[in-house]
Formats: sequence, structure tokens, C-alpha cells
Amino acid sequence: MTALLELRDVRRSYPSGDGSVEVLKGISLTVNAGEMIAIIGASGSGKSTLMNILGCLDKASSGSYRVAGADVATLDGDALARLRREHFGFIFQRYHLLSHLTAAQNVEIPAVYAGTERRQRLARARALLQQLGLDARQDYQPSQLSGGQQQRVSIARALMNGGQVILADEPTGALDTRSGEEVMAILHQLKAQGHTVIIVTHDPTVAAQAERIVEIRDGEIISNPPPGAPSQAVPEKMVAGSEPGWRQLLGGFREALAMAWRALSANKMRTLLTMLGIIIGIASVVSIVVVGDAAKQMVLADIRAIGTNTIDVYPGKDFGDDEPQYQQALKYDDLLAIQKQPWVRSATPAVSKSLRLRYNNIDVSASAEGVGAQYFNVYGMTFSEGNTFNEVQLNDRAQVAVLDSNTRRQLFPDKASVVGQVILVGNIPVTVIGVADEKPGMFGSSKLLRVWLPYTTMAGRVMGQSWLNSITVRVNEGYDSALADRQIIQLLSLRHGKKDVFTMNMDSILKTAERTTHTLQLFLTLVAIISLVVGGIGVMNIMLVSVTERTREIGIRMAVGARASDVLMQFLIEAVLVCLVGGALGVSLSLMIAFTLQLFLPDWGIGFSPLALLMAFICSTLTGVLFGWLPARNAARLDPVEALARE
Ligand code: ADP
Ligand code: MG
Repeated sequence: MTALLELRDVRRSYPSGDGSVEVLKGISLTVNAGEMIAIIGASGSGKSTLMNILGCLDKASSGSYRVAGADVATLDGDALARLRREHFGFIFQRYHLLSHLTAAQNVEIPAVYAGTERRQRLARARALLQQLGLDARQDYQPSQLSGGQQQRVSIARALMNGGQVILADEPTGALDTRSGEEVMAILHQLKAQGHTVIIVTHDPTVAAQAERIVEIRDGEIISNPPPGAPSQAVPEKMVAGSEPGWRQLLGGFREALAMAWRALSANKMRTLLTMLGIIIGIASVVSIVVVGDAAKQMVLADIRAIGTNTIDVYPGKDFGDDEPQYQQALKYDDLLAIQKQPWVRSATPAVSKSLRLRYNNIDVSASAEGVGAQYFNVYGMTFSEGNTFNEVQLNDRAQVAVLDSNTRRQLFPDKASVVGQVILVGNIPVTVIGVADEKPGMFGSSKLLRVWLPYTTMAGRVMGQSWLNSITVRVNEGYDSALADRQIIQLLSLRHGKKDVFTMNMDSILKTAERTTHTLQLFLTLVAIISLVVGGIGVMNIMLVSVTERTREIGIRMAVGARASDVLMQFLIEAVLVCLVGGALGVSLSLMIAFTLQLFLPDWGIGFSPLALLMAFICSTLTGVLFGWLPARNAARLDPVEALARE
């Protein structure tokens, strides 16, 4: 029958200066199931080193160690963690309890890493504490317990997953005589129940209680009585991992989350200050997305209101060109030619001149514009009184006019209705047929008073000219306005024999505006992301400090069976949690900013899009993962023995 534990010529050396010192010098030891062994030796003789190798916390430099026949050297980190978790139970001289957890929570830890279901775990922890006489102390923190009580809590923890082999390193070393005797009595009971108990001690009276005493001096065994017969008794074992894999994973995640939450709330002020960076970062990202979007939408809506499928055609080379030879380039025939194009929905001409308007004894200056009947439609104007002129009036050069509301107010301050009134435009009497309102937009309303006449009337009767100041072309829905633009130029250049007109295309203005706002927003977002990165570095910094502070905690967790990935996960979750809570607060802050802005800029239409919230969530999580990664990896890479030794 194979022995439970079997060491063969095990050596362990530590690097020291140029060479190395050998702490264990060829230890061969066999332990059968159910034995109670004392390993005795002077301080510094290598007892703890041997114990760490026995408990799979440490690996031998050479030689072989078999646990129930399996060579430990062939196992990877996770398999070793599993072995520690399921077969071994450690009891340390200084108890090594986690100070921010209660007794019951401390006892639970090995089962958390074993993936045991919560209720089952809790029940077992409470039952164990009760058996060890700590019924009334379950919810006390270690600092509220005496040394003997703390050691009993640590024994309960060692038994949590079964603890087939109990490894006790100087279990009574820090206790008074009476508490020491109690602990020894418990160890005797465990032996009786079938546990294998290995006690390390330098105290001969403690050692004398074991049935087999192995003596060690300077890393060598000097006395090794033969092992007793293997016991048949099997200690009760915790049934672990009975749940399906994904539920275990979920449970583990929830547990890590709870642990992270406890760790963070243990240090509230520091957590809050760390969060501040994230709060500011997320608030600026979200605010810029939200406010920037609102501003962009407003600008674009203004431009769209004018109509993106309209093209204005002007005589000359470009704006500001007043060369007389081009002044008269646009003719009525050009208008007719443009109107005949299949892709043109409507084309309205414009001839304008500054003229005096008179009504009774009121005399004002206004811009008189000759336009087509479609004009008001093209520019999205609404009529508060009357209507536009019809085709007949247009063809007959009818003497009718549409006023804008400012002109109406100037000329008819007290009249309820002005349709049908006759005014003088220049020297021509015309009948008012409507009042139209300009759409207010970001370009601002002009201060000019305006009056619109049929272009035929305007050109023929008022000005006596045969050319047009401009033509506004509206292309069919869905027709490419850039193409239309080119076609108009081509058409008119062909007709005139040279290029003497230019166009202004609303669509290209819209595209330019879109590009500009986009660039601006991108730039601002970059600034916001920089502030988020600064916040993330703050998180990284504090997590690194936290890992250093909690090195011993990490060592304890690893000793009771945490895998490197469990430790990584815990610290990563802590970082993400800080960032997510910070992100939530940041979103609230930016909500407040948005509401304040809304008070001052009511027509901005600031709204919280799900996109902004999603972005905040993703940014926070990413920041946490990105900046938590390095500290978490540092924690996961810690060597359990070294970590445990850290004060
Ligand atoms: P014991 O538990 O019997 O008092 P230890 O096993 O703790 O002794 O230590 C045995 C020897 O190994 C000591 O001389 C100690 O200085 C040395 N030692 C232990 N751990 C290390 C280490 N990590 N690096 C270097 N030397 C070590
Ligand atoms: Mg020691």
C-alpha cells in the first residue's frame, strides 16, 4: 500500500550571495494516513521549510515528494492549489486570520475557493465553530478574540474542506499553557477521527504527546522512528464542487465581488479619493459626448432647415465679384433651361433692390425681392396671413406683394388684417396678399425689412431689367447635389460660351460643418480621455499600494487553496469596481452639468442617449481592467511562502 506522504532525498536551497545555502539536506520521510507526528528541532533547523514542502506551498529543489502516490513535481500551480485546498489544512503559529473578516467568514474561505454553494458553506462553518466551542464568537473579528480562540478559528478553517492532513507549524508557540493544552486536545481528537496530524515544534513536552517524533538538526533528520500502521478511519469530507461549472464560476465571481467590496469599504476615504480621478474622467467624457452631440445637432438642424438639396446660382466668378461684364449673366432663359432639367424640382429666380415702401404717411426703406411662387416653400417659411402668389399672377406681372412680419409691423402698426391693403413699392402701387415669417436660424434674422414680389413684376415693372440676381435651384429628393451642381455649371457655361456663374451648395456647407464639429468633438474627447487615463493611473497606483499592504492576506488565501487566477480575479474586480462606482458617480455629475446647461441654453435639446451611458460603462470597465491588470498580476505572481512571511 502506498504511503500518504513520501519524501525521498528532498533538498531545498536558497540563493545567498554568489552561491546558495542548503536548508534541507536530503530529507527522506514517510507518513502513513492517520498518523500523529511531531517534527522537533532547534530554531532555524529547517522545520518550517519542510512543512511548506509537505503542504505543497513550496517545492523541493531536488528529490521527490509524492502525495498518495502522485509526484508533486509534475503538478502545475492550479493543481497544487487544488491539493492544498482539498487535502491539507494549515495551522500557523500566528493564526494568520484575515483581520477584516469575521470568524465565520474566515472559516469559509477554503470552501469559497473550492466552489461550494453558499448556504452549505455557511452551515458547515458554523457547525465547525460550534464544535470547537466558539458558538458565541462566530461574528467576532479576530481582533476581538483571544489567542486561543483565534487558533481554534484557524483549526476550523483547516477543517473546512476536510483537512485530511493537518499541518500545524508551532500551533502552541504563541499561546499560554492552558490555551496550548486546549489546542493539543483538539489535535488529538482530530487524530482520533482519522486525520493525519503533523505538528512542528521546538517544545519537547508538546512533541511527547505524538506517537512518533522525528528530530531534525541543520536540515538533516537525525532520528526517524518507523511509521505506524496506516489507519482505516476516513475523516469526514466536505462534498465540494457539486454544482455545474458555470454556476461555480458565477458563484466565484460573486464571492470575489463581495470580497472586493469589503476590501474597498475598509478604506473608504482612500477609495473615494482614488475614485475622484475616475469621476472627473468619466464626467468629462460623457459631458463632451452629450453636450457636443447637442451642439452638433443644432448646427446641422439649422443648415438642414434651409434645405440641403438647394443650390444657389449667382453671376460672376465668386462672392464679392462686381465686374460689370458678369453682372447681367443670369437671364430668364437660363431659368427656363434649368427648369427643364429632369432632376430639377423647382427653380426660383431672385432679383432684388433696396427700395422705399410707403403707406399713408409712413415711409420705410426695405429690400424688395422678385421671387418665384415656390420661394417661400424652398426656404421653409410660414404664412401668418394670406398666401403666396399664383402662376397667373406671376405670368401677368401682377402688382402684388408678400411682406415679412417686421415690415408689416412698421407699415401697419394698428391693423388687425393687412391683406388687400395697397402700398407703394418704389413708385409702383401693389396689393398686399400675405405676410410670411422667416425661419429664425443660427445665421440670425437680417435687420432689413423685406418685401417679396413676383420676379416678373419686379424685373419688368419695378426695375425695368432683363437679368436676374440669382437663381435658387431645388433638386429632386435623392439626387446627388454635387452632381447637380456640376451639371448646372456645365449647362450655363455652354449657354453663355464661358463660365460666368458660380454656385453655392447647401449640402457642401453641411458637410463642411459636419466635418468641423466632428473634428472639434474628437479633439475634446481626446482631452477627456486623457483625464480618464490620469484617473486610471491613480487607480493603478492605489492598487499597487494595496497589493503591497495585503501581501500577507494574499499568502493566506493561497495557503488555503486560492489559485493564482482567483487572486488575479479578486484584484481585477476591485479595480473594476472602483472604476464602475466612479463611473456611476461621474455620470451623475455630468447629468447635473447637463441639467445646468439646459437651464441656460434651453434650445440646445441636451438629451442622455443610451450610447453615452453605454460609453461611460465601457470606459469605466476598460479603465479598471487596463489599470488594474498590472497590480493584479503582481498579486497573482506572489510566492505563497514569501507572502506569508511578510509582516
Ligand atoms: P525553523 O522553522 O526550523 O525555525 P526555517 O525552516 O524557517 O527554520 O528556516 C531554516 C533556515 O532556512 C534558516 O536558517 C533560514 O534563515 C533559512 N531560510 C528560510 N527561508 C529562507 C528564504 N526564503 N531565503 C533564504 N533563507 C531562508
Ligand atoms: Mg519555523
